[in-house]
Amino acid sequence: MRELHFRHEKIEKMSKKEMQELQLKRLKQAVHRAAKNAYYNKKLKETHVSPDDIRELSDIQKLPFMTKKDFQVNFPYGLLTVEKSELVRLHATSGTTGKPVTCFYTENDLETWTELIARNLTCIGVTKEDVFQNTVTHGLFTGGLGYFQGATRLGCLYIPFGGGNTARQLEFMIDYGVTAIHGIPSFGLRLVEVAEEMNLKVPLRLAMLGAELWSNSVRKKIEEGLECEAYDNYGLTELIGPGVSCECPESKGDSLHVWSDNFIAEIIDPATGERLDFGEEGELVLTNLTKEAMPAIRYRTRDLTSLEEECACGRNAHVRMKRIKSRLDDMLKIRGVNVFPSQIEYVIMKHKEIGYNYRIRLWKRGALDEITVEAEVKNEVFRDLKTEAEIVDKMQLLKNKIAEELRNLILLRINVELKPEGAIPRSQGKAKRIFDER
Ligand SMILES: [Zn+2]
Repeated sequence: MRELHFRHEKIEKMSKKEMQELQLKRLKQAVHRAAKNAYYNKKLKETHVSPDDIRELSDIQKLPFMTKKDFQVNFPYGLLTVEKSELVRLHATSGTTGKPVTCFYTENDLETWTELIARNLTCIGVTKEDVFQNTVTHGLFTGGLGYFQGATRLGCLYIPFGGGNTARQLEFMIDYGVTAIHGIPSFGLRLVEVAEEMNLKVPLRLAMLGAELWSNSVRKKIEEGLECEAYDNYGLTELIGPGVSCECPESKGDSLHVWSDNFIAEIIDPATGERLDFGEEGELVLTNLTKEAMPAIRYRTRDLTSLEEECACGRNAHVRMKRIKSRLDDMLKIRGVNVFPSQIEYVIMKHKEIGYNYRIRLWKRGALDEITVEAEVKNEVFRDLKTEAEIVDKMQLLKNKIAEELRNLILLRINVELKPEGAIPRSQGKAKRIFDER
């Protein structure tokens, strides 16, 4: 058994029965609070539900779903359940499509959030002894100030480095003896790549990564490259930001504990809205039980996963959600086959010859959809190859192997193109991997 750490041991190891009582109490409060908002109240009336109809936990299924649209039509202040003067912070999504989704916080909301991030960090083993570098921007993105608050609460020496500037980030890590970082997985890969180029050794201890889907093949590259244990965490701006769920040392690589004293997780069939059982895959629906500033009740996340009970770490009342492999919105339909980009990532990044960047291009050959995966091959692969013919052979073999693995997993012919290191353009911020040229 690995060493386990708890921030709120009583809550984290609560029995399931105690948790259900707490959730029911908080759910009633949350629905009463939400009903103070005119828009939400109208939604309830249209569904013929009153807040008093919530008598047991399963009554949550009587409540209407919320979707991104509820946030969009109420932009910017329409979903508030408190006076504007009670708000102390807002964060927002990048809003690449339309208006950004805004998350408002009261003083209590910020406190809850800070403790949830401190819980995430403690859960993976971060302590006040750690020197903690946050590699994301400290602006509107929740991953900046969110982790600033949580790590500072734990008493870490906190470095608010911000995004980009990879070489300088690595220098900081070495100079100040950084032991733990927070970031997005694609930047984790970038750190490994640049450290390799510069021949730097960066022995971290822990990396908390999130805000993008990432496969365990990517995790392995980051863990080897930065000599650390890399953990996944999950959250949404609509709910609170990060702090919704996190891997523990026992569930690492498989699933994340949903902090069930604050959130109720449900899985539904995305087509019918019907609730599914433990172990069945469907769309994740989340309710924030404690948020004061605005409601997020039965919010449809568009993320596909399933729920599991029990964990060797003892956080049995905090259900585990399987690592998210796909989003409904990311699903590509190619020649009638559903393809999830994370499946492709898993296959290509498993190969040690493949570097740290890839992209997926969708294009048309006549009337037919084609999919091409471009990946970079590490320079070191060519080091011992002498002739042009040897290089061509080696590349052909690798290409065939990857194409075959992709065909076996996805049951679709996928074109593979291998490129030299650095040939695929890098994106700023969250990695853009899909290029639809159809
Ligand atoms: Zn656990």
